[in-house]
Amino acid sequence: MKTGDGRESPVALKRRARKINRILGETYPYAVAELDFRNAFELLVATVLSAQTTDVRVNLTTPALFARFPDPRSLAEAEVEELQDIIRPTGFFRAKANSLLALSNRLVDEYDGDVPGRLEDLVTLPGVGRKTANVVLGNAFGIPGITVDTHFGRLSRRFGWTAADDPIKVEAEVGALFETKDWTRLSHHVVFHGRRVCHAKKPACGACPVAALCPSYGEGEVDPAKAAKLLKYELAPGREELLERMRNGETRAELLRAGHALGA
Ligand code: SF4
Repeated sequence: MKTGDGRESPVALKRRARKINRILGETYPYAVAELDFRNAFELLVATVLSAQTTDVRVNLTTPALFARFPDPRSLAEAEVEELQDIIRPTGFFRAKANSLLALSNRLVDEYDGDVPGRLEDLVTLPGVGRKTANVVLGNAFGIPGITVDTHFGRLSRRFGWTAADDPIKVEAEVGALFETKDWTRLSHHVVFHGRRVCHAKKPACGACPVAALCPSYGEGEVDPAKAAKLLKYELAPGREELLERMRNGETRAELLRAGHALGA
């Protein structure tokens, strides 16, 4: 539905946005947080480590880290050199080690070794911004949150859901288009689509399930055969058994241990 001046009405925008989310949900039914974690502390640490690297690399690093330092108290007492050695593969390891030490010390000193479940508290922790706080709230506490990372911002603008660059504005404007209960799932769907199809440099428009609803169709390759070659799948199509197991709660770490190769 267009308004008199040819612009999309707010109602039409909301409908289109929700339809896109529905289709992305059908396309990526297994969309979950891609970081492996067993509790809020592990997710918080993994999210801090994920800056400037891939979730796959973080998932390869965290099992050894949590085996050695399973909680904020043990991590707060870690030797910085040992900590740096363990997290080195994630890059920026000196800064990240300092953040993790400061973070776990604050958790011990101010929150009795627990991760607080409120946005206002989480964003005051060292190394934790709004994005990390929303990841933790949405995935470890079940409190709906929109996670505006680079993929979410880019796709929201391509979808015409917002024109803003500022992540806080993106969060507010996109949040207003959806029901609060859908925010966390929406974040996963959009990030999955950004990683696999709607890439920053070469979006695969010709192989995109929401092409008909996207005002940016044509920004990338539209030829279906050429576009198909641009797709990136962590789980190749056809490996439904793995998808089913992930949907039933098995983590990447468990699937890897069971001998399934999950390439990025
Ligand atoms: S049509 Fe192109 S720009 Fe739009 S979501 Fe799909 S891949 Fe991205």
